[in-house]
Amino acid sequence: MAHRDDVLAELGLMPVWRLRARGVSQALSPVATGQQRTRSESPAPETDAQARHARIAMLEWRDFAADVDACTACGLCRSRRKSVPGVGDPNAEWLFVGEAPGSEEDARGEPFVGQAGKLLDNMLAALAMKRGGNVYIANVLKCRPPNNRTPEPREVESCRPYLDRQIALIKPKIIVALGRSAATTLLEIEASIASLRGRVHRYRGVPLVVTYHPAYLLRNLPDKAKAWEDLLFARRTLRAESPPADPPHAGSLPL
Ligand code: URA
Repeated sequence: MAHRDDVLAELGLMPVWRLRARGVSQALSPVATGQQRTRSESPAPETDAQARHARIAMLEWRDFAADVDACTACGLCRSRRKSVPGVGDPNAEWLFVGEAPGSEEDARGEPFVGQAGKLLDNMLAALAMKRGGNVYIANVLKCRPPNNRTPEPREVESCRPYLDRQIALIKPKIIVALGRSAATTLLEIEASIASLRGRVHRYRGVPLVVTYHPAYLLRNLPDKAKAWEDLLFARRTLRAESPPADPPHAGSLPL
């Protein structure tokens, strides 16, 4: 049966629907039974969401940005100017995750290009890093919430498969969650920034460190020192968990 299902899936004939009304436990595909969905019928929402998640989980980089751009899974697609998929080195060791695009990001289609972005660039520079060089920057939401309001849970749920897929493609060695929204989304817990800072968390096995959002730091300058501590902690964590391979001894011969 598993083989038959594989074949049907390959042919795009899944999901298989079971006709219970006849009292016969008979597996028939929507195509075979003429039960394809028409526009006027409402789809089974769970099945649709599952199919969408499964499709996004298989996306490759070459299709990623176009898929985000075509997304209409939540209402933010109606108010966005540009979608903001993410920017940087697709093989980066460092992944920084913010909350959602703001006005300038929405206009340019790139994350963290406003005032908060300038501060993030400075934070990266302090670590001798820059966007694009071993760093990838993304947001939980790929579209701007109107007036920069807090993302709604439904929006986060709709957009989350994109972030999950980005992380699976990048395979970062360290994730830095910028602010509470990114931290609680990635860790799937409710907690304050204060309680999450200074510890190594895990996202699917990848070490994750939490720090303040740069926009918060612009309003709370004294906390910049704490954010700096967090970044140093992230760097120590990366070095401890992924030490660089030993350079070969000069002059040594293979045995
Ligand atoms: N704030 C965010 O969380 N992300 C951006 O891209 C810009 C501001």
